[in-house]
Amino acid sequence: MNAKILIILTGGTIAMKTAPQLGIVPTSEFADFLRSFPQLKDVADVDVMEYSNIPSPYMTPQMMFDLAKTIDRQILEYDGVVCTHGTDTVEETAFLCDLVLTTRKPVVFTAAMRSGSDLGLDGPRNIIGSVRVASNPESYDKGVLVVMNDEIHTARDVTKTDTGKVDAFQSLGYGPLGYVDPDRIVYHRSTLYRENVWTDKLDTNIDLIKACAGMDGRYIHCSIAHGTKGIVIEAFGRGNLPSYLVPDIITAIQNKIVVVICTRAYTGRVLDEYGYEGGGRHLQSTGAISGGDLRGIKARLKLMALFGKYHDPNEVRKFFAGSMQ
Ligand code: ASP
Repeated sequence: MNAKILIILTGGTIAMKTAPQLGIVPTSEFADFLRSFPQLKDVADVDVMEYSNIPSPYMTPQMMFDLAKTIDRQILEYDGVVCTHGTDTVEETAFLCDLVLTTRKPVVFTAAMRSGSDLGLDGPRNIIGSVRVASNPESYDKGVLVVMNDEIHTARDVTKTDTGKVDAFQSLGYGPLGYVDPDRIVYHRSTLYRENVWTDKLDTNIDLIKACAGMDGRYIHCSIAHGTKGIVIEAFGRGNLPSYLVPDIITAIQNKIVVVICTRAYTGRVLDEYGYEGGGRHLQSTGAISGGDLRGIKARLKLMALFGKYHDPNEVRKFFAGSMQ
């Protein structure tokens, strides 16, 4: 018997075409295309739900969260869900869903680097691959997955690494969980690190600041003045910053702001190694907490979920610090 899969459409290039004079823009044809896509019928019993039709730079954390709630409700009637999305922010939406979803059934995000007007378009192939992954019993309880270019990635590890290539998505440092072959879905590893933050709401008052050589504290001042609840800083290397930012970080912490130190490097963990002023060990002694191997954009979403769940910054600190790799 075929699996029952719901495809939820949110927009992105996968649902776009080239319009004369305008360039690549959303169309309303994608849902109908999928409903009459013959190869899909061989793979699963598919329903299509139009959720939104936006370019993914328009996606907000609140919209991602509302989508997660929709998935949790809808999946009760299905064996799995495939969600189509724009590539620009799919890793964020997939990660937030991974944190907050309560279902253990397969939830797969997919997208396309090429629009419906492009030669060698990847959207239909990615859809078929995703529906096959969502229909596969081995995909149960693997967390939210992202299927692109015949590869299966975890939402936590995957990132968009290229602006134009079809193989734009990689799980840097870890590699994909598996791949989509013509005869079967092949899983060749599993992820040992899984986490959930089950919450009824998000608190989006969290900032992300990227370190660069010679930067001053103006963005940290701005966050403090704005009354932000958490600041994620993508620091250098193992999680180091210049000494002259330390007083600003201490002021933020004194203002009960949770400060999380991630790295702007592409792979590896933040570690309390360097003892010089502003070094990772020194920053952690001021009360800043380590983001481990989580990239800044994902640490920001995790703080949003944690502040949605706990009002007390100490609870957030405790959970965050205790859950890091
Ligand atoms: N700008 C597009 C989006 O994220 C890119 C894509 O889907 O590939 O909506």
